Amino acid sequence: MEKWPLGVFASIDAGLGVHLDVAKELGVPTVHLHAPSKASRTPEKAQEFLARLKELGITISVVFGGFEGESYADIPTTARTVGLVPPETRAARTAEMKEIADFARQLGVDVVALHVGFVPHDKTDSRYGDAVAVTQEICDHCKANGQRLHLETGQESPEGLLQFHADVNRDNLFINFDPANMILYGSGEPIDALKKVGQYVRSIHCKDAKWAAKPGEEWGAEVPLGEGDVNMEAFLRTLHEIGYDGPLTIEREIPQEPARQKEEIGRGVKLLEELRAKILG
Ligand code: MG
Repeated sequence: MEKWPLGVFASIDAGLGVHLDVAKELGVPTVHLHAPSKASRTPEKAQEFLARLKELGITISVVFGGFEGESYADIPTTARTVGLVPPETRAARTAEMKEIADFARQLGVDVVALHVGFVPHDKTDSRYGDAVAVTQEICDHCKANGQRLHLETGQESPEGLLQFHADVNRDNLFINFDPANMILYGSGEPIDALKKVGQYVRSIHCKDAKWAAKPGEEWGAEVPLGEGDVNMEAFLRTLHEIGYDGPLTIEREIPQEPARQKEEIGRGVKLLEELRAKILG
């Protein structure tokens, strides 16, 4: 595959991504797929999806796990509801994440990813050890499937993420780097963070955002690609420097406005094509 094929975050029947026919219209050859609902995670459905993808000429590079009850309404709600950290839902979601990894294997996809949740910054907090243990458990399940696990960035500073990565201590654990999340959550300047964690970055989201007045307390604002504070050219140049050659996967989460979502992603595709030509020559 060429360096930096374009991609988009897509979904079939669950999650925030665009539908596969929209991915086709956008002309992108790869997608990050939000895992479909449980009813659709069967070997028969996997074969159907694969036939449909073949027809569309699209490859899935990553399957993303997501769970019912997750809400990104604001930072405290995200901390309370997202990923494998909240104790009330951890056991059920861990089991579901393993099912999602097994479904990804049926699709022939060797990478699964998720927002693990807000890992406590204080290592003596018992929930820190719980987050390490559950991530090890998922990594080991993925390893047996011949898969890698990618953690979505956002909640942790680059230093916190490196510490967590070291504490989990699994050779199939990597990072899905989302520069906009660093701004939205106020967890660090994205280009600097990418340089720090670059050795573990194996997939990315092309997403843009503006800093909040009080970063870390209030949400920043997600905006169309190229209109925020990430600096897409610097982002791509840094990816080039760290030797990243995987897909450039656009994520734009406004599913309530599908027409605007498609138009904005279309502009994002053009921007990335221009930058790719400029940087790679
Ligand atoms: Mg993302």
